[in-house]
Amino acid sequence: MPVCCRVNPARPSRGRAGIATSAEPRPAPGTYALVLSSSKDSLIKVGRLGWLRLQRGFYVYIGSALGPGGLYARIGHHRRRATRPRWHIDYLRQHTRLERVWYRYGGARYEHEWARAMRTLPGATTPLDGFGSSDCDCGSHLFFFENRPSLRALERLISAGAVRRARKYGRPAECSEEIRQVLPNEFAQGLK
Ligand SMILES: [Zn+2]
Repeated sequence: MPVCCRVNPARPSRGRAGIATSAEPRPAPGTYALVLSSSKDSLIKVGRLGWLRLQRGFYVYIGSALGPGGLYARIGHHRRRATRPRWHIDYLRQHTRLERVWYRYGGARYEHEWARAMRTLPGATTPLDGFGSSDCDCGSHLFFFENRPSLRALERLISAGAVRRARKYGRPAECSEEIRQVLPNEFAQGLK
């Protein structure tokens, strides 16, 4: 497996006072996946896109944060439930719990590749066409799973994609940052 796809959870370290330091991402560009859970079945409105039938289970949303503030700012945004939803994910976030975030640093836009990989994970379905994918041809950047999806399964697919591309273009496999994970109790300012 290329080193680029190693799973390396960003474990919080403990300072002298025993207070965990944050595993939150730095304000650098990157790609991320939000793993959300729903404990109820209901129907929710996703702005102008339409209605989403919310089910008990897990949702994964794929995005990238390449602008100012990078992953730190964007994941900070998703950590809170938006009072004035702007993006599709803001509407879903209002009704779900943020379970964990997977992210990888890098200035290249990998969100579509991650979305394609996510779609092929066992049990993945796309609950609402066009969700988070208004400006690309992925079909959706939101996926539903009855059971919690595994980061290892995702990174295996991403790794395989990197190897395939390398073979196709006759060059060494890309070696970018590893995929990291941050859990709710590792957010410095908690979750809402
Ligand atoms: Zn896309």
